[in-house]
Amino acid sequence: MFDIELVVGDLTTMAVDAVVNAANSTLLGGGGVDGALHRAAGPQLLEECRGIVARQGGCETGDVVITGSGELLARYVIHTVGPVWRAQVADRLDPLLASCYSRSLELAAAHGLGSVAFPNISTGVYGYPKERAARIAITAVRSFGRRETSIRTVIFVCFNDENAVLYRRFLDAASAAES
Ligand code: ADP
Repeated sequence: MFDIELVVGDLTTMAVDAVVNAANSTLLGGGGVDGALHRAAGPQLLEECRGIVARQGGCETGDVVITGSGELLARYVIHTVGPVWRAQVADRLDPLLASCYSRSLELAAAHGLGSVAFPNISTGVYGYPKERAARIAITAVRSFGRRETSIRTVIFVCFNDENAVLYRRFLDAASAAES
């Protein structure tokens, strides 16, 4: 089991082994946290993403790819594509959002990494209900934490207070249930 921490702040400043990017399927940059990471990392990050696109096309929803990190403090960027919220097909989207978290951790573990920081995937432009997304994120990460891997710390980086309050509540409830 690893430690799960909550930080209210900016993912681009995190000094961890890998930051996870809420990318879009083109991998060629977008708004929100994706744009912020590319701005902070510099052109090297886009170059690497272009290389992946040339080799394998983009990245499917729920899937992950890894690159270096340009000028970020983090060593790697794991790019994952969250689902775009559509209430009519919510049950099909939830496993895809969970997959963003579990497959990011799988990839980090495959690279022997110790610390990973996540944004609140799909809760910006992609419009996922924040409470639903927070529950899925925490459940996926906690369930991965039962495995024995290199990962020692997972950090949820909340950029706004609404998400921070939800994450605090759900993480506290989960640890209270355990003790
Ligand atoms: P998506 O398209 O997956 O919804 P967004 O980037 O629009 O991705 O939003 C995902 C989450 O990232 C939102 O909760 C947003 O508030 C947050 N976010 C935006 N910029 C940053 C940042 N610099 N650091 C951490 N989180 C951020």
